[in-house]
Amino acid sequence: MAFLQGLDSHIIIVGCGISGIGAAQKLLNHGFHNVRILEATGRCGGRIRTGRLGKKIVEIGANWIHGPSQENPVFRLACQYNLLDPESMSEENQAMDIGGHPPFVPNWFSSSGKRLGPELMLPATSLFVSLTEECQDFHASGREPVPSVGQYIKREARRRAAELWDDAATRDLRLATMSMLLKLECCISGTHTMDDVGLGAFGMYKTLPGLDCTFPGGYEGLISCMMNELPKDVVSFNRPVKCIHWNNSVQGADSSGRTFPVLVECENGESFPADHVILTVPLGYLKRHQATLLSPPLPLPKVHSIQRMGFGTNNKIFVEFEQPFWDPDCESIYFVWEDEADLVDVVPDLQTSWIKKLFGFTVLKPTER
Ligand SMILES: Cc1cc2nc3c(=O)[nH]c(=O)nc-3n(C[C@H](O)[C@H](O)[C@H](O)COP(=O)(O)OP(=O)(O)OC[C@H]3O[C@@H](n4cnc5c(N)ncnc54)[C@H](O)[C@@H]3O)c2cc1C
Repeated sequence: MAFLQGLDSHIIIVGCGISGIGAAQKLLNHGFHNVRILEATGRCGGRIRTGRLGKKIVEIGANWIHGPSQENPVFRLACQYNLLDPESMSEENQAMDIGGHPPFVPNWFSSSGKRLGPELMLPATSLFVSLTEECQDFHASGREPVPSVGQYIKREARRRAAELWDDAATRDLRLATMSMLLKLECCISGTHTMDDVGLGAFGMYKTLPGLDCTFPGGYEGLISCMMNELPKDVVSFNRPVKCIHWNNSVQGADSSGRTFPVLVECENGESFPADHVILTVPLGYLKRHQATLLSPPLPLPKVHSIQRMGFGTNNKIFVEFEQPFWDPDCESIYFVWEDEADLVDVVPDLQTSWIKKLFGFTVLKPTER
C-alpha cells in the first residue's frame, strides 16, 4: 500500500495462496523479519490443490504451468525444487512457441455419438486459429471493427464458412465445432463468454514460450517446498480478515508500545497492527467484500477497476472409465453439439444444460510418482 520503509516494518499478508507465500518468501529473503500471513482457511495453497482419484493424482485447482520457460517464475521455482520431469525442463521444450494453445492430440465426438475424423474437423480448427490470430492483431493496428472477440469470431466464421464450404451438413458440423472451440477459448481466457473479451485488448495478453507442462507429483508439491522455506509460525490459519483499517492515523500498538498506521481486524476479533498490508484475495472476493474489507474504502478509480474487471468460472469434473474409448495417443476429447451451428459459447439454461457448456475433457496420463 505504500513503499516499504525499513527491514523492521511489520508486514501483514492476507491470503496464503501462491501469491501470499511468494510475497512472504521474497520479503524474508530480503531481510524483512516481521512478516505474517493471515489465512482464512485451515490450509495453504488456495486455488492450488492436489487430490487423488484412486491411484491417480488429480489437480482440483491449477494444473498447468503455461509457458514454462525462464521468464516464468512458477517454472523457475519448479525447476529449483526439481519438481518437473526432464522433458519439461529441456531447452527444446522451453523454446517451443505455441501461442497459448498446446497442440494436444485430439479425438472428436458428436452429440449423436459419432466419432468425427480429422478431415472433417481440421478445416474448422484451422479457420478458428486464423480468426483468433486476427483478433490478436487488432491491438497493434489500433482498429476495433466490433467490440469483442466473440462478436468478431462469430461474424467472420459465419461469413467465411459460407464462402468456403458448399455442403450444408459439412458446414454446419464445422460451425458446431467452432462453437466448441469458442467454449475452449472461454476456459483459456477465464470468461463466461468471448463476447465479454474486448477485441482491442486481446492482443495485449502475452504468452510465454514453452510447451505447457504439469507437476508429476502434483502442483501442491510446489506449495510444500515454498512453505518449507518459511519460518514455521509465519502463517496464522483460520483467520478470515474482516477489515483493514488503513487511514494512516495511528491505529494500534504492539507489545513494545510502537504504533502503526494500519490495523488488520479478523472475524474472530483478533487484530494485528501493521506498517504495510499485501492483499492477495481473489478478485471475486474483492468484488463482493471491498466495501467492508477496507476502511476507509479504496479511492474511486480503484473501486471502479475492481467493479469493471470481470472473470468467469473454470470448473472441473473428473470422470473415470474402466476402459478407454479414446485412442491410445489421445490427449483431448472434444464434444461437438450438432445443434450448435449458430456459433454459441453460452448455453441458455445452465441449470439444466450445463453439460453443453463443457468443451470436452483432457485425458489424464497415468501417475508416475
Ligand atoms: C479450476 C482452476 C484451474 C486452474 N488452472 C490453472 C492452470 O492450469 N494453470 C495456472 O497457471 N493457473 C490455473 N488456475 C489459476 C491459479 O490457480 C490461480 O491463479 C492461483 O492459484 C492464484 O493464487 P493466489 O495466491 O493469487 O490466490 P488464491 O490461491 O485464491 O489464494 C488466496 C487465499 O486468500 C485466502 N483468503 C480469501 N479471503 C480471505 C480473507 N478475508 N482473509 C484471509 N484470507 C483470505 C483464500 O482462502 C486463499 O487461500 C486455475 C484456477 C482454478 C480455480
